[in-house]
Amino acid sequence: MCWKYTGDKNMIGDIVIDDISIAEGLSHKQFLEYIKKKTDEAEELGITIDEHLKELAKNLSKKSLRYKKVYIGRELQSLVDEVKAFKLHGRIGKQTVGKVNREVDRLIIESSPTRLDKLVMVSGMTYQSGNKISKTFVRPNFLKGEIGKKTDSLKYVDGSGKPSAFQLFLDKLHPTLKSRFNTHLDEFEKGINAIPKDIKRAAIAGTHGEIRALDDLLKEIDPLGKLGDKVFNDIIGYNRFLRMGANKVQPPCAHCFYLADLVTFIGL
Ligand SMILES: [Zn+2]
Repeated sequence: MCWKYTGDKNMIGDIVIDDISIAEGLSHKQFLEYIKKKTDEAEELGITIDEHLKELAKNLSKKSLRYKKVYIGRELQSLVDEVKAFKLHGRIGKQTVGKVNREVDRLIIESSPTRLDKLVMVSGMTYQSGNKISKTFVRPNFLKGEIGKKTDSLKYVDGSGKPSAFQLFLDKLHPTLKSRFNTHLDEFEKGINAIPKDIKRAAIAGTHGEIRALDDLLKEIDPLGKLGDKVFNDIIGYNRFLRMGANKVQPPCAHCFYLADLVTFIGL
C-alpha cells in the first residue's frame, strides 16, 4: 500500500478516520516520519500497516470517549464472597475473588505490622477468552519507599538516587498499558472530569494494585499487545481495601478509573 499525505485532517492515505485524526497538524515531513515509525511497529507486531493504523484510529476514538467519562468518587462497598461472585460472573468471578481473598489472608498473616500498615489495597485481575480463563494476578499498591522521589527529570528515584522500584515498573510497562498511561498523563495535565478532593486522593498514577496486576496479566496473555485496547473488555477485577479490618471492596481511584477503563470490577 502506498501512503500519501492528503493534508485532510480526517484522512491518512485512504483511511478515513472518524472525528479524530492521527495526522492532524503534522507537516508533510512529520507525516512521512510517522508512517515510517508505524510501518516498523506494524512489522514488529506481525500485522499490516493498514491494520495497525485502523486499530490506532479506533483506539484514538475510544481514548476521546474515555476522557469524556466523569469520575465519581464512591464509598467503600461490601465484600463479595465466592458464591456471589460465581452467581454474578461465573467461574472467572469465583476464581478472581478466591485468589484475592487468599492473598489478603496471606498478607495479614505474613506481613510485619509496619508493612501491613502501609499496604492500602490488593487487586486481582483475570482474563477470559471463550471458555478459557487465565491465571489471576494479584498485587498490592506500591509502598512509599518503593515509589521514591520525583526528580527534575520526572523520574522516580530511591534514597541512593537509583531508579525506584516504581520507576523500573513504569519503564517496563506492557505496551497497551503504556499507551494508556502516557495518554492519561497528558489528559490529567489538561484536567480530568473529577472533583479536586478525588484527584488529591488518587495520588500518583500507576502506583495502585490494579495497574500492577493488569501489567502482569497483559504480559502473560498478550505479551506484544496484539489484542490492542479491546483486551480490557475481557478482563475482570476485584479490589479489596486492606484497612479497617480488610472487609470492604475499594472502588478504583481517579487514575485507575481511566487506566483500567472497560475492566469489569466485581462488587462495584
Ligand atoms: Zn488507583
